Amino acid sequence: MSSPALPQAEILIIGAGIIGLSLALELDARGARVTVVDRDTALSHASGAAAGMLAVHDPYNPPDLQELAQFSVSVYTEFLQRIERLGGMPVPYQTRITNQYDARGVGTRLVESSIDPRQLAPALLAAAKALSIDIREHEQVEVLPTRAQVVWTTGAWAKHYNVSPRKGQMLRVELPRASTLTEVHRAEHVYIVPRTQGPQAGTALIGATVEDVGFDLTTHAEHLVQLRAAAADLTGDLRFLSDAPIVEAWAGLRPGTPDNLPTLARVNERELVATGHFRNGILLAPGTAKVIADLIEGRQPRIDIAPFRATRYQQRTAQPSR
Ligand SMILES: Cc1cc2nc3c(=O)[nH]c(=O)nc-3n(C[C@H](O)[C@H](O)[C@H](O)COP(=O)(O)OP(=O)(O)OC[C@H]3O[C@@H](n4cnc5c(N)ncnc54)[C@H](O)[C@@H]3O)c2cc1C
Repeated sequence: MSSPALPQAEILIIGAGIIGLSLALELDARGARVTVVDRDTALSHASGAAAGMLAVHDPYNPPDLQELAQFSVSVYTEFLQRIERLGGMPVPYQTRITNQYDARGVGTRLVESSIDPRQLAPALLAAAKALSIDIREHEQVEVLPTRAQVVWTTGAWAKHYNVSPRKGQMLRVELPRASTLTEVHRAEHVYIVPRTQGPQAGTALIGATVEDVGFDLTTHAEHLVQLRAAAADLTGDLRFLSDAPIVEAWAGLRPGTPDNLPTLARVNERELVATGHFRNGILLAPGTAKVIADLIEGRQPRIDIAPFRATRYQQRTAQPSR
């Protein structure tokens, strides 16, 4: 076996969502000593609220996301297998096909999977704890340590990197016993994601709103009922959803950016940033982890990360000098 690339390097990750914890696993594999600090409970924010689609073929993704999305999905199975090996908790794929509808309602079948983030969260934590990763919840970092490299993975709270919260409301409905729904159905403004494995099997998620309303997590009955009606209208086969009983509803805060692309960059000698994953953080986590670990190692990442540089907004708004 080759020797680890970051032997005993000290890394502090601030933010224990899926981005921070996936990075912690990757850095541990490269030999680093990793601490992850979260001022709240690990995985209790956007990463626990997601539907879990690995939406690599979503036509509404920005084109510049494609290479990172493809890269991340190509390492996903290996990522899930490592999590299971380390922590003993499996995270099965819930679905394998997505039906994507265009504006006229014409559907295309895509080979695209989903997982359940509520299965991933405890499994990822168990994996991190099985390693020597130091996870500190309910702690704030007051002063950055001088010896460590620091990575900001603070999700919707990374306002210094042009990130702002974009709220998503979602509901979970009970499917009729006779339902054979095992594929995702998705249009521009609504999706249905069935759970086929685990404690939520026999239910489906319907999502999601995209709202710019700050750090607000309230759900509204009228929005939920509109989502369910839109889901039922997607195709004739889904009409039964119009009165499917609602099991639960919640909202989460996606880390949004002005161009809907994440920021993955070194910002100075000691600090890096990995945030702004908007609607695709579950999909992009293992690919992001490899990119950021490469940057810490001083290696060229396997994909072009120019679209994700931290300075792109400054350049765009800069006035030409006269
Ligand atoms: C309704 C909804 C549906 C979604 N569906 C999908 C989907 O189907 N597929 C997909 O790929 N993605 C989906 N997403 C997007 C995905 O959830 C996010 O992109 C992803 O979870 C972002 O992960 P994160 O680790 O950056 O952020 P988070 O999970 O929010 O974690 C950030 C962490 O940083 C901590 N933190 C913040 N500031 C500080 C600080 N100063 N000090 C210490 N800790 C701090 C927070 O407490 C938090 O725990 C969905 C999101 C929502 C809301």
